[in-house]
Amino acid sequence: MNFISTRGGEKVNGAAKAIVKGLADDGGLFVPESFPPVTREELEEMLPLSYPERAARILGKYLDDYDSGELLAALEAAYSKFEGDPAPLVRIDDGIYLLELWHGPTCAFKDMALTVLPYLLRRGSDICGIKEKILILVATSGDTGKAALEGFKDAEGIKIMVFYPDDGVSKMQKLQMCTQEGGNVNVVAVKGNFDDCQTAVKQIFADAEQAKILKERGYILSSANSINFGRLAPQIAYYFSAYLDLVSGGQIEMGEGVDFSVPTGNFGNILAAYYAKRMGLPVRRLHCASNMNNVLTDFLSGGTYDTRREFYKTTSPSMDILVSSNLERLLFEVCGRNAGRTADLMKEPEATEAYTVTPQEKAAVNETFDGGFANEDEVVETVYDVFCDTGYTMDTHTGCAMKVALDWFEKNKKDTVKMVVVSTANPYKFPQDVLYAVTGNDVKDSFKGIKRLHAAMAVAVPKSLSGLRDKPVRFSKTAKRDKLFEEVLSFVDGD
Ligand SMILES: *Cc1c(COP(=O)(O)O)cnc(C)c1O
Repeated sequence: MNFISTRGGEKVNGAAKAIVKGLADDGGLFVPESFPPVTREELEEMLPLSYPERAARILGKYLDDYDSGELLAALEAAYSKFEGDPAPLVRIDDGIYLLELWHGPTCAFKDMALTVLPYLLRRGSDICGIKEKILILVATSGDTGKAALEGFKDAEGIKIMVFYPDDGVSKMQKLQMCTQEGGNVNVVAVKGNFDDCQTAVKQIFADAEQAKILKERGYILSSANSINFGRLAPQIAYYFSAYLDLVSGGQIEMGEGVDFSVPTGNFGNILAAYYAKRMGLPVRRLHCASNMNNVLTDFLSGGTYDTRREFYKTTSPSMDILVSSNLERLLFEVCGRNAGRTADLMKEPEATEAYTVTPQEKAAVNETFDGGFANEDEVVETVYDVFCDTGYTMDTHTGCAMKVALDWFEKNKKDTVKMVVVSTANPYKFPQDVLYAVTGNDVKDSFKGIKRLHAAMAVAVPKSLSGLRDKPVRFSKTAKRDKLFEEVLSFVDGD
């Protein structure tokens, strides 16, 4: 399959090239030249399959330059690192389900793709005949960094460097990253918030001179951020799998439309749902859930994307984002795949920090998407209410999506659609905030939070979190935003 840039300047043959490059030369994002269809018969055929088998069917449609048997084996290996079913569906009420995507090694949904990406990149670079080693740079709002480090640690021919905003991640997230094991990893804090951090990393990718310097040292750059198609592709699979589980569980008829409510930051997770819909999955509406950084809510209701607003640090830090990079892929679709138009829109924010889509483009977005958000009190209230009503404990990110889902039914009382709320983190990953929500108990220490939350939830604590307490901190450096390339070079030269 061919992949094209959303800004029109590049076309590559094969997913491997798109995945290894990460970002197109013109600054655009790679998108498939067309959406490969999944027929009703294929959906029926996938009903009895395991999660990795279902994923192999979906990914294989995009990754037709990878060997299909090898792809399946890689997916089986990746998802064997999960506790049980990688993407179980939990029914909490008539018509409301949670799709739990956090049973992987780092307890957040990023594991769904980042356990697979090392294979996609390594094999991809072989397919492309690349001799250089790969240097992965990641800007993280918390969960991507850890999941990428864990996915890539000690991968042959790959080095990985993670940058996180020094005051923008939770204590648990920071500890997870700074204690990371592996001989090929590095972690650096960056002064500023996530958008500053992401912008600084993007600048390294855009700088041809710096790429040349790295190449002379035997490295090419690649990205594990959600703009990489290799991140997006594995995420499409769980929407199919959730749908199939609803059918096999007798909750819906094959062909019946379902809604998803997705806690959104960089717009990667929800975009995968949209891709699934475009491939033919009966998705009716997608509810884009934000926290107080509700730039997407305003865009979906008013058609203007405006980042000129206060940035809030919330209890759902992985959604504390004002520039949602993957939205570019949706804009490309809703303007009729007009790359010139997409490029114009995307250049505007750099100049004016805001852009407005046409009424037709907005209507095309709203055909599928609507948005909502939860403020901090509403997150607490939602997590608490669901805990009281059903005994189910969800994390703060999922709480935002649950609030938006419940608001939808409040406004549309007669709607009988089945709603899947996408659950993106294990509640123990944000123990103090979740503890506060379900018990009103305020503790300063994360591990105390875990202990007390365990008493309230009576669900086992994942070892990958409880074991953090005894791990030595390996990384503690903070860098200024304009000094990141120097950090990169000293890491590369440290061989
Ligand atoms: C990354 C993340 C999100 C946001 O996902 P996007 O793909 O960036 O929209 C939501 N919740 C959690 C827990 C995350 O780690």
